[in-house]
Amino acid sequence: MTHRVAIVGAGPSGFYAADGLLRGRPDLRIDIIDRLPTPFGLVRAGVAPDHQGTKAVVRQFDKLLDQPDLRFAGGLDIGRDLTWEELVAAYDAVIVATGMVIDRPLGIPGEDLPHVWGSWRFVAWLNGHPDFRDGPDLSSVKSVAVIGNGNVALDVARLLAKTPEEMAKSDIVPEAAAAIAAAPLTDIHVIGRRGAEHASFTNNELAEMGRLARAVSVADASVLGAVAPATDPTPERLRKAKNIETLKGFAARRAGEKPVTVHFRFHETPKAIRAGEVELSTGTIPADLVVTCIGYTGEAFPKADGVFAVGWARRGPSGTIPTNRADSHAVAKDVIAWLEDRDPKSGPDILPLAVDAEGWRRIDKAEVAAGAAHGRPRLKLVDRQALLDIAQGD
Ligand code: NAP
Repeated sequence: MTHRVAIVGAGPSGFYAADGLLRGRPDLRIDIIDRLPTPFGLVRAGVAPDHQGTKAVVRQFDKLLDQPDLRFAGGLDIGRDLTWEELVAAYDAVIVATGMVIDRPLGIPGEDLPHVWGSWRFVAWLNGHPDFRDGPDLSSVKSVAVIGNGNVALDVARLLAKTPEEMAKSDIVPEAAAAIAAAPLTDIHVIGRRGAEHASFTNNELAEMGRLARAVSVADASVLGAVAPATDPTPERLRKAKNIETLKGFAARRAGEKPVTVHFRFHETPKAIRAGEVELSTGTIPADLVVTCIGYTGEAFPKADGVFAVGWARRGPSGTIPTNRADSHAVAKDVIAWLEDRDPKSGPDILPLAVDAEGWRRIDKAEVAAGAAHGRPRLKLVDRQALLDIAQGD
């Protein structure tokens, strides 16, 4: 008899937790459960479809699925198909790796209007998440307001600004790609409520905005006087200083130089959203689509003995994928220590039938084959039943 651990959420933090557990206790039996029939969480549904280099991390996770005592259970919703209580009672430890999948509200009038989209919903649509199959109507969208100054805001602005050629090697769903290509877009406003020295963009992601084929990035004059705060720790100061240099380069460009202009605007707080416009603290700008990129919240889970959270579910929605490795490995050590003095539970296997690793491999193979026909890394299946059917070999 050995201990059994359930990991709820098959995203990066869940897989890194499994990796950490197996490094310390190779004898453990681990079930990694996801409500989707597919693994990899945010890497599949959240990482921008044109950033295939970032998505390549799944190769490490995929290898873990070959471990004999690690089972994948996809298409299983904890809370619906099985209660948290049942899970906690049946397993020696439960790791919650459910991330944060709810868009944080802005809390201003007009944010419930149909042209206002949270970035989770928007990016999940581009990425073919089965629960987010309908995207915004872009057919008459000329001007977009992207609210927030983090990497997600850059993802959204860049994905709207790129040409079909620039997206050719991505795995964006074809419906979304077609809608963006057909939109009469001319302006994308990236709006920060603070100055450039407080933006959380990473250097490479911001610099990429200066290399777009059909879009020119411009910045307002406030960036010329921006200085990275001297009190920041050195890596932060260097990151910010480099961003400010990049933004100064943008400030020297001219709006309208290319068919689409991305405007980096700082010190502008959104006050209200109305049809066709956003009211900012400094004035009103046209916006036929508004995408809020201001962070996420998560779903509730039990805080009981033997339940450990990792990743965004533990720390909140910050940090890149590599951040989660160290975090999940540290939690895995705590789990191993916690199991040390406890006898393994002896109850039956309670996992209902679900998509296993073999089922996922069938989905993967079908998607990669469909993509290859179009020169793309994969063509995602977006219908939950189609995913389940293929997983079962139909
Ligand atoms: P983030 O970096 O925390 O940015 C959130 C932004 O929202 C901040 O600029 C924040 O401004 C702004 N904001 C919050 N509330 C607001 C409000 N009420 N009105 C206006 N603005 C508001 O988060 P993120 O962009 O969602 O990214 C999440 C994490 O994923 C980050 O660690 C990010 O680096 C990572 N990520 C990485 C990549 C990549 O590596 N390529 C891509 C995507 C995401 P304040 O600073 O003023 O609060």
